[in-house]
Amino acid sequence: MTRSRLMTFLAGFIVGGLAMMGIVMLSSQQPPELEIVHAGGPTVPPDAADADANDANDASAEAPANDSADFSRSIIIPVQGVSAAAIQDTFDETRGTSRRHEATDILAPRGTPVIAADDGVIKKLFLSKPGGNTIYQFDPAEQYSYYYAHLDRYAEGIREGLTVKQGDVIGYVGTTGNAPANTPHLHFGIFKLGPEKRWWEGTPINPYPILITRANK
Ligand SMILES: [Zn+2]
Repeated sequence: MTRSRLMTFLAGFIVGGLAMMGIVMLSSQQPPELEIVHAGGPTVPPDAADADANDANDASAEAPANDSADFSRSIIIPVQGVSAAAIQDTFDETRGTSRRHEATDILAPRGTPVIAADDGVIKKLFLSKPGGNTIYQFDPAEQYSYYYAHLDRYAEGIREGLTVKQGDVIGYVGTTGNAPANTPHLHFGIFKLGPEKRWWEGTPINPYPILITRANK
């Protein structure tokens, strides 16, 4: 074996080894790549065209929706100045190919403040293909996760671990992710967290009946 062939062999061995390490590292990454898992996840606007932002909750795919009546928190409509009449019940609509929407779309002009629906903690700021700029907020008891998607941007100072009060501005309405550029809206979801309290796992609850009956009380 010539020196150059030896070098080529060694280089191939090293590259192959690095690739294997990469595969191992990727496979142990948590959480799973949400864009892929959530291709149909919970999020999206009135247009059936948009695939949906509710990325993270892949577990919701097979899980039946929880009864909204079990939801015990007193939340407010998470978009400033929006009345219950402007909210659409799009929970059961399909997005993309087969996923249920599992969220509510709240239409509002781009830049309208998005406010915390409940007290709690900003658990995760996540950028996903369908959801764009998203926020996962847990309620104080960590029973539920609130999901806000398609945000134009986050409010100043918003970061993971931040405690917020109901009504605090956390972001602004936009069309990031797969929302139609001409239909700015907040994609809002509620998920009952599992025992491990993972922000990307939960059972979807229809926000619509909750918002229209308990909002702004
Ligand atoms: Zn939506």
